[in-house]
Amino acid sequence: MENCRTSARILIIGAGTSGIAAATRLLQNNFQNVQILEAENRIGGRINTIPFGDNVVDMGAQWCYGKQSNCVYEMVKDMGILHGTDDYYSTIKRVRSNKEVIQHELGCAIHDIALRSMPSGPNPVVGSFGTHLTENFWRNIETEMPQLDRDLANEALETFAKHESSIIGSDSLFDVSIREHIEYHECDGDKLLHWGTKGYKRFLRLLMKVSEDDPEGLGLLEGRVHLGKKVTKIELACPSKVILRCEDGDYFEADHVICTVSLGVLQEQHEKLFVPPLPPAKVNAIRSLTLGTVNKLYMEFEKQPLPDDWVGFFCFWLAKDLKELRKTEYSWLEGITGCHMVTCQPRLLMVWVNGPHGRHTETLSDEKVMEGLQWFFRKFLTFEIPPPKRFVRSKWFSNPNFRGSWSFRPTIADDRGTGPWDLESPVKGEDGHIGLLFAGEATSRNHFSTVHGAVEAGFREANRLIALYSSCGFNP
Ligand SMILES: Cc1cc2nc3c(=O)[nH]c(=O)nc-3n(C[C@H](O)[C@H](O)[C@H](O)COP(=O)(O)OP(=O)(O)OC[C@H]3O[C@@H](n4cnc5c(N)ncnc54)[C@H](O)[C@@H]3O)c2cc1C
Repeated sequence: MENCRTSARILIIGAGTSGIAAATRLLQNNFQNVQILEAENRIGGRINTIPFGDNVVDMGAQWCYGKQSNCVYEMVKDMGILHGTDDYYSTIKRVRSNKEVIQHELGCAIHDIALRSMPSGPNPVVGSFGTHLTENFWRNIETEMPQLDRDLANEALETFAKHESSIIGSDSLFDVSIREHIEYHECDGDKLLHWGTKGYKRFLRLLMKVSEDDPEGLGLLEGRVHLGKKVTKIELACPSKVILRCEDGDYFEADHVICTVSLGVLQEQHEKLFVPPLPPAKVNAIRSLTLGTVNKLYMEFEKQPLPDDWVGFFCFWLAKDLKELRKTEYSWLEGITGCHMVTCQPRLLMVWVNGPHGRHTETLSDEKVMEGLQWFFRKFLTFEIPPPKRFVRSKWFSNPNFRGSWSFRPTIADDRGTGPWDLESPVKGEDGHIGLLFAGEATSRNHFSTVHGAVEAGFREANRLIALYSSCGFNP
């Protein structure tokens, strides 16, 4: 190996979780020439904790999903900074669009049937999540709750499917591969671990080893992150180097580049971004996997807007109301699964808007969105929710540095025989040099779509370089 760890030039594209994880691991293994180029004017990517209400809100990642085999949890488990919200979904209300609050035990029983109707185990491994869920749900209702009103059952199924879609990030569960659902490894334990009043940014600060008394510091990455540097060309050149060009005309050379941009950015840019073009297997993966859209809307009120015994509600649309809604300018409200209180922020409410409706809201003004939400509250609730004092929302799809929220594997990827493994594989130059490496959540085989998947992917590519340079110099 001509270069050793101390001199090897490593450039990382993207200062999101994966890029930060890769950089910190490399620096901790004696790589000294590590730089990050980031298009936005902030670090964090899809972790974006901002001040709002009484402390902070997360516009992107918010929860650490589970404990077992979760590298995020592993890193902080002894610090007492992650807090559980285990019983959230067992206490939530279910409200119909005629304002009827569904009796709690009944709502939970139908929800339980829907949960048990989801694909699980090794079979079947073909088809869509939606088909499997729908068929199983109705079969289970027939046998376990034959007396149940079919309209109510249908509303419950629709809401459940919409909620699952918002977790997976799909427009519809009928797009989602069952195989992906089975191959995704859930981490056991509380799925809604949160960061108290600090937000997910706290984790990034720990990863970078920023000291508590340095609110704006970058710790290990001090002096190594170039903000506002949008990479527009990545050229695998000979001999053994990679040339990067930025939108502002800047030019960088490296021995290795780790590209962590989102799947959405790759889909939009890969033909212009990479010289020579990426190999067909990688292009197949880029074209076949999907980056869904889920947006968050936070509202701040003078005081807690929901009754004391409400943590939030799922909305069940009556078929006739949904038909009417679809004819109005508020049709995007169909993309809302429910409305939730925010942990450590009793004066806030949050809604998620999913899929095509989530993308549509990004084209609307704040006033129009607020008007729609007021209409929504009046439609579902018997009590009044006043207009909020302040309002903030995400627009992940229209931002060209993201183009969506998180990735999933659609049925079409199974048909084309591709998945995250093709997105992950490094690309060599003509001389066989491993010049281009890929990280980011969408490259994770079993934890795609998550922060822990993004961290693992960053560590994976750093480890690849560490192994490549194992014969030279540094023995930890
Ligand atoms: C609304 C929302 C809620 C979520 N909730 C959770 C949750 O609760 N728990 C969880 O585990 N996960 C959650 N996620 C998913 C999680 O946030 C992501 O999986 C993870 O943060 C992705 O990290 P990444 O490093 O792979 O990508 P990114 O964070 O997207 O980082 C890539 C970086 O590359 C930069 N970039 C793009 N193009 C260029 C370019 N041309 N030149 C230079 N830089 C460029 C981008 O600006 C970005 O900073 C959520 C995501 C969203 C959007």
